[in-house]
Amino acid sequence: MNPLHNLIVETVKIMPKSIIYLFAKKYIAGKTLSNGVAVAKDLNSKGIMTTMDVLGESVRQKEDAINFVNQFLELLDTIEKEKLNSNISTKPTQLGLNIDFDFCVVQYEKIIERAKMYNNFVRIDMEDSSTTDSIIKLYTKLYQKFPQNVGIVVQAYLHRTIDDVREMDKIKTNYRLCKGIYIEPKEIAYKEKKEVRDNFIKNLNLMLDDGCYVGIATHDKPIIDKAFEIIKTHKLSKDKYEFQMLYGVTENLRKQILDNGHRMRVYVPFGDQWYYYAIRRLQENPQVAWTMFKSFLPFTK
Ligand SMILES: Cc1cc2nc3c(=O)[nH]c(=O)nc-3n(C[C@H](O)[C@H](O)[C@H](O)COP(=O)(O)OP(=O)(O)OC[C@H]3O[C@@H](n4cnc5c(N)ncnc54)[C@H](O)[C@@H]3O)c2cc1C
Repeated sequence: MNPLHNLIVETVKIMPKSIIYLFAKKYIAGKTLSNGVAVAKDLNSKGIMTTMDVLGESVRQKEDAINFVNQFLELLDTIEKEKLNSNISTKPTQLGLNIDFDFCVVQYEKIIERAKMYNNFVRIDMEDSSTTDSIIKLYTKLYQKFPQNVGIVVQAYLHRTIDDVREMDKIKTNYRLCKGIYIEPKEIAYKEKKEVRDNFIKNLNLMLDDGCYVGIATHDKPIIDKAFEIIKTHKLSKDKYEFQMLYGVTENLRKQILDNGHRMRVYVPFGDQWYYYAIRRLQENPQVAWTMFKSFLPFTK
């Protein structure tokens, strides 16, 4: 992020939440489960799979983590009842990772047990680099018990990812590969756009060479074009990969990918803990952040 954009985002953060929500709701299905279901149904009707997420992160109290577990269980029940073509995405710090590792494992087991009952799937999102080791450890532990029902996210901007992938390929991991959204120091993360793209492609090739399933999670056209080539070279059948995008982002590109016959899954977040997710999306979108910034300045009205 350039310094001006950084300044704009910092200013946006001090705006009233009600104003931030007006701009952020483009990226969020709504505050309730029924809002999430309505969006997922609409996307499913267009041939798009979804991954639904009850927003929340950095939980400090066990009872809050347990409350989120109950919401995820209700979500899985609802996906089944409504016959949605959807799995779920979860954040480890929402389920107690920063409180106690073993406690977090137990919370995940409750959720994945329910997903298994419905033949569904739980994606473990990747968070900032202070959690990478413990999230990989969490995933590997859960994989031993639920090999078909759990997968992880890796971030192409981290130097370490290629080594993590080499290790996790050994158990035929189901991946989501994304660039990564947290602000990380240059000592551990690629900073240049080209470096991140190159590392994305390098990791994608390795995953596919090793026969792993990959959710290719990006809106970046050059990466998507390169992924098309790789899919062709590997002669991959459609059930070996999918593209993934965020709700509210690059709908035209999403349509082009679908029209080319590839599978697409959209991340559909909902819930009243929308704030940090929304700020991350606004950080990625200088234009929206700038419009918000201007709307707050009386002399620009
Ligand atoms: C399904 C999914 C799940 C994800 N899960 C994680 C995760 O677990 N952990 C993690 O660290 N990150 C996650 N991410 C976020 C990811 O790391 C990137 O921050 C995000 O996808 C933007 O990167 P990009 O590859 O689209 O490339 P960018 O270069 O950021 O974007 C490419 C183009 O997409 C468009 N675009 C991107 N973002 C926006 C936006 N907010 N608003 C409008 N246009 C936009 C712009 O046109 C931009 O030029 C996820 C992303 C997806 C798609």
